[in-house]
Amino acid sequence: MLISKPLGGFQSNGSQYRVPRYIKLGPVDGGDPFRLAIFSVIHGDESAGALGLARFIQKLVDLPGIAKGYVLYLYPLCNPTGYEDGTRHNRNGYDLNRLFWKNSSEPEVKILENEILSHMFQGIITLHTDDTSDGVYGYVHGDVLSRHILEPALTAAEVYIPRNQRLKIDGFKAETGIIQDCFEGILRSPSELGPATFEITFETPQLIHEDLQVAAFASALETMLIKYREMMAMGANI
Ligand SMILES: [Zn+2]
Repeated sequence: MLISKPLGGFQSNGSQYRVPRYIKLGPVDGGDPFRLAIFSVIHGDESAGALGLARFIQKLVDLPGIAKGYVLYLYPLCNPTGYEDGTRHNRNGYDLNRLFWKNSSEPEVKILENEILSHMFQGIITLHTDDTSDGVYGYVHGDVLSRHILEPALTAAEVYIPRNQRLKIDGFKAETGIIQDCFEGILRSPSELGPATFEITFETPQLIHEDLQVAAFASALETMLIKYREMMAMGANI
């Protein structure tokens, strides 16, 4: 069952907006479930991320075991005004993914920061599409664990879209489609909490056929859930 619990509520141009949130409890695996958050459409013109997330949720209907041991917090539309206007920025003209943990007064940022603080997620995955890339790639933050989760996710996505193998992506040093640096102010765990156990930004090339991006996102998400659970199970047995 997918529970809908939209967040906040803010005004823009006389209309009321909320940040949709869905909660999905996977089959129980003994012990406390891993709290994993997945965010998409922080940039309003990157709707393939939300469609990829929806495809992934459809997959869970047929294969519920993918989410075993998880409680998933899903935020498919983090920038509702930008989505409505077809813009990267929100209606106030801000790139929301540069404002986190900087005392921003943008309502979407405050709502999402509050969520991150109150749930203390073990994993944070954000989905983006990049109109300057011709392949899939990702950013890893925090623990070395993230790399071991992103690498197989990129491999899974490569069934649909080649990997970006450039040595420089988005201005950052990259190796086999993995970047360890990041922009300031992106949606992630705040420095006072320390990074979540794993934090991954997964990017598809925006100009490639949307169906392929959706399939790549769904496949990458499935792989990340499976890999993290496997790694935690191995850790528990050491
Ligand atoms: Zn983006």
